[in-house]
Amino acid sequence: MLLLRSHGITNTKVLSAMERVPRESFTPATFRDQAYEDLTLPIGLGQTLSAPYVVARMVEALELDERSRVLEIGTGSGYHAAVLSHLCRRVYTIERHRPLLAEAERRFRDLGLSNVTTRAGDGMKGWPETAPFDRISVTAAGLEPPDSLLEQLSPGGIMVIPVGGRDESQQLLRIRRTETGFDTEKLMDVRFVPLVPGIAAHGE
Ligand code: SAH
Repeated sequence: MLLLRSHGITNTKVLSAMERVPRESFTPATFRDQAYEDLTLPIGLGQTLSAPYVVARMVEALELDERSRVLEIGTGSGYHAAVLSHLCRRVYTIERHRPLLAEAERRFRDLGLSNVTTRAGDGMKGWPETAPFDRISVTAAGLEPPDSLLEQLSPGGIMVIPVGGRDESQQLLRIRRTETGFDTEKLMDVRFVPLVPGIAAHGE
């Protein structure tokens, strides 16, 4: 993880969580030799696993502690959720593509990650039965932060979300819920696949 240190990731808990997750277990076999390069990799169904540096920045920005309950939108390969699982109490993660979710679930089982709870569904609606969440990590870009997710954030809670359209520049935002509203900070320019409403139909 020297690469991440040289990129300015200094949080030792985040670095060691990243070191504990074998990224090659989350990439398709054909990209396994590139698993430790700082690259975005395709994971099937037109979706991508973010570069390690982006995952590290997003995880760091969440300011997690061991009591945090975290909602992730966009399980994808499961890599980001696996990193989060080493830094918080429980990760609730939602994916709209069932085949991706099934593979991610197999990886969580194989790695013995017992504090990750999964659901196939539309993450833009959040997970009302288990809300509120201390932290929300959205790993697909919305045109704006979905209201249902903002509502499911605890007071004092933090959401990290990329915002912007498919072909526009996107910004990674950190949104803190305060007693009276929300404070938003821009963290960096990013490029994510879009947040798409509804669960994916077979073959979509
Ligand atoms: N966190 C993932 C990155 C996946 S890419 C990883 O570590 O691999 C973004 C994912 O968000 C895709 O798998 C996409 O299918 C999913 N997604 C997009 N819109 C969604 C929605 N409304 N609800 C749930 N998942 C969604």
